[in-house]
Amino acid sequence: DVMLTEKGFVQKEELTYPFEERGLQFGDGVYEVIRIYEGRYYLLKEHVERLYRSMAAIKIYPPFSEADLYDYLDQLLKKNGVVSDAKLYLQVTRGSAPRNHEFPLNTGANLYAYVKDFSRNTDLMRNGINTITLEDIRWEWCYIKSLNLLPNVIAKQEAKENDAQEAILHKNGLVTEGSSSNAYLVRNGKVYTHPATKRILGGCVRMKIEELCNRHQIPFIEEAFQVEDIAYADEVFMTSSTAEILPVLKVDTVTVGDGEPGRITRELQRLYEEDAGIRTEK
Ligand code: PMP
Repeated sequence: DVMLTEKGFVQKEELTYPFEERGLQFGDGVYEVIRIYEGRYYLLKEHVERLYRSMAAIKIYPPFSEADLYDYLDQLLKKNGVVSDAKLYLQVTRGSAPRNHEFPLNTGANLYAYVKDFSRNTDLMRNGINTITLEDIRWEWCYIKSLNLLPNVIAKQEAKENDAQEAILHKNGLVTEGSSSNAYLVRNGKVYTHPATKRILGGCVRMKIEELCNRHQIPFIEEAFQVEDIAYADEVFMTSSTAEILPVLKVDTVTVGDGEPGRITRELQRLYEEDAGIRTEK
């Protein structure tokens, strides 16, 4: 397996990290997870642009240009001979330096990226998931895809321990997003989701959902909904690059709609597959 680093391509076994590394010691960095279908990146530009926005927000100045990165990412797939469904993990940190909170001088950013086989979890897409609600205790800059994922990790574990697959986060009752996904509510044929403020991560799939809704006359309303509204929802769904579009059947003890994946959710799944060029065996 070949990995991409700031020094070029290396074999996975060759990669070592100094113990004084900003990502390891401070979570001082940002990341992306990019979907690959049949050996091709999906929503690549959206992810790369978000990576650059995340880096700029925390003042990491990468030694590679955006154009270089596209080229490297392309080469990474070729060098690994990726032809099937996979995902790319990429992170950039403020580099390696003696441990001090303030930014080190003259230390370049560290980059690493690798590809991993990853097949679609079509069972969850078809059958839906259960969720729990939790207070969103994260910081106020959730639009940055930061390596600091402790609140997200704890929320996901809490979901797992309650036989749920995702946690829906809320600030004083107002739903922000999931622990690793965006959240949507459907009522009377309209899709509601938290506006893309600093309080949520503007998902690349969320952008695609907005585009698909606009193109197919499904009202897409950027208005946060309340946890309480879920009791009156027709549908709830979550999205992310790896999970795609997941129908939510239960939120805590509340059954959503009639307890089956909803019509709009299934329609968006179909449009999404079409957009991504996913072939589904019927
Ligand atoms: N919100 C959070 C907190 C996430 O971790 C993710 C997954 N990266 C998303 C939303 C969805 O983002 P995307 O659609 O770009 O995968």
